[in-house]
Amino acid sequence: MPSAEPARAVSYWLAAGEPARAPALAGAATADVVIIGAGFTGLWTALRLLETDPALKVAIVEMEHVGFGATGRNGGFCQASLTHGLENGLRHYPDEAHLLHREGMANLRATVDFVRDNGIECDLEATGELSLADHPRQVDEFREHVELATAHGERAVFLDGDAARAEVHSPRWTAGAWHPDSCVMLDPAKLARGLARVAHERGAVLYEGTRVTALERVAGGIRVRTAAADGAPGEIRARYAVVATSAYSGWLGRLRPLFVPVYDYVLVSEPLTPPQHDAIGWRNRQGLADANNQFHYFRLTADDRVLWGGFDAVYHPHNGVGPAYDRRPATFERLAANWRRTFPQLADLRWPYRWGGAIDTTSRFTMTLGQTMGGRVVYALGYTGLGVGASRWAAGIARDFILRPESDLLRLRFVRSRPVPFPPEPLRSLGVETVRNELARADANDGRRGRLLRTLDGLGIGFDS
Ligand SMILES: Cc1cc2nc3c(=O)[nH]c(=O)nc-3n(C[C@H](O)[C@H](O)[C@H](O)COP(=O)(O)OP(=O)(O)OC[C@H]3O[C@@H](n4cnc5c(N)ncnc54)[C@H](O)[C@@H]3O)c2cc1C
Repeated sequence: MPSAEPARAVSYWLAAGEPARAPALAGAATADVVIIGAGFTGLWTALRLLETDPALKVAIVEMEHVGFGATGRNGGFCQASLTHGLENGLRHYPDEAHLLHREGMANLRATVDFVRDNGIECDLEATGELSLADHPRQVDEFREHVELATAHGERAVFLDGDAARAEVHSPRWTAGAWHPDSCVMLDPAKLARGLARVAHERGAVLYEGTRVTALERVAGGIRVRTAAADGAPGEIRARYAVVATSAYSGWLGRLRPLFVPVYDYVLVSEPLTPPQHDAIGWRNRQGLADANNQFHYFRLTADDRVLWGGFDAVYHPHNGVGPAYDRRPATFERLAANWRRTFPQLADLRWPYRWGGAIDTTSRFTMTLGQTMGGRVVYALGYTGLGVGASRWAAGIARDFILRPESDLLRLRFVRSRPVPFPPEPLRSLGVETVRNELARADANDGRRGRLLRTLDGLGIGFDS
C-alpha cells in the first residue's frame, strides 16, 4: 500500500493536537462518584450527574488519556439508534423498540444541542447516513427497511441503483437508504476533548495516567485502588463508582462474561484533490456504509480525506486488548484492496493513517447496563460498534441508577436484562471464530445464512463488526 507519510498507530483524530494532560492521582482522594474511564461513556456520565446535581463531587480516573480507547479511534458516525438498528431492536425488545427509537432520536438531538450550546468544535456535519446495497437481493430488504423506519416516524428515503450510484460513484451499488435525521458526522476526539473541558468547567476532577486496579466494598461506599504510570499507588473513596471501561472491562471479573473485545480497523487517506473528489461524487458528504455482514463504513473528514473502515472483525484470545493489536497489516491490505474494487477510479489513493481499536461486543449487539457490589458500582458497556451517540443515553441511565432510582427508564427490559453470556476460553475463541467464518461464508453465498447462524439468530445471539 503506497503511502507518502509514514503510517501511524495512533488514530487520525488523536494525532491532531495533544492537549495538556491532567495529573495522575497521587495518594488518597474522596468523591461522591468516581468514574473509571474517560471515553464517551465516562465523560457523559460525569456531565449527566452534574446536570442533575451540580454540587456532586465527581472524579474521573483514566489509565491513559481522554479518548484513548474506542472514543478516539472510531468512524465518527454519531447515530440515533440505541439498539444497533431498528430491526435488531424489534427482534430483541419488540415491546420497547418504538420507545427506544424515539429515545434515540431525542438523544441525538440533545447531543447536537449540547455541542452547540457549549461551543464544542468537533466538525459536526448533519449529513445523515446513506446505507448502500451492493447485491440485487438487498434491494427489497432496503425498501422494507425504509418502510419500517418511516412507520416508526423517521424520515427515510429509498434510492434505486441509479440514484445511489449518482450520489456516490461506484458501480457496486444496487440501491440506497438515506436517513437524513438519524446520524450526524463528527470528529470524535474533538468531541471527547470538548466534553472533558465542559466536565472540568462544571467541577469534575480528571486524573489521567491512572489505572484502576481494584474495587473494594467499604462502609458507606466503595474504595477504588489505583496505580499511576510509575506504579505509585493511590485510592479514592466514593459513595459510588461507575465502570466505563468498555472493551477493556476484563479487569473486573464479573463483567467478563458480558462482552468480547473485537478489533475493528480503519484507513484514512490523504486529502482528496478536487479532481479526485469529482471522480467519486459524494457531494452531500453523508456517512456511508454497505449492508453486508462484513461491512465497510466510510466518510469524509473536515479536510476532505476518506475514512474507510470495517470488514474484518478480529478477536484475540482471552479478551486480548492493547497496543500490540492496534496495527494489523493483513487487514490494512484487505481494506485497501476492497477500496480499489469499490472505487477503481481512485485506486491510487494513499492511506497515511491506519489503526485499530477494540469494540465491546455483546451477544445481542446492544449495551448492557447494571449495578453490582450492593448497588455501589454501576456499569455501562457493550454498544457493539455504535456507542458514539448511544453512550450519552447510557450515561443518563448510569446517572439514574445513582440519583434517580424512580426513573421509568430503569424499568425497561432493555436496561434490566442481560445478554446471553459468552463462555470462558477456549470455547470463547472457538465460538467467535466459528461465527465469524460463518458470517463471511454467508456474504460469499448471496447472504444465505447457514444452519449455525440461523440457530443463533433464533436464540438471539449474533456477531458482526
Ligand atoms: C475502529 C472503531 C470504529 C468505530 N466506529 C464507530 C462509529 O462510527 N460510530 C459509533 O457509534 N461507534 C463506533 N465505534 C464504537 C465507539 O467508538 C464506542 O462504542 C465508544 O467510543 C465507547 O466509548 P466508551 O467510553 O464506552 O469506551 P472507550 O472509549 O473505550 O473508553 C474506555 C476508557 O477506559 C479506560 N480504561 C480502561 N481500563 C481502565 C482502568 N482499569 N483504569 C482506568 N481507565 C481505564 C481506557 O483507557 C479508555 O479510555 C467504533 C469503535 C472502533 C474501535
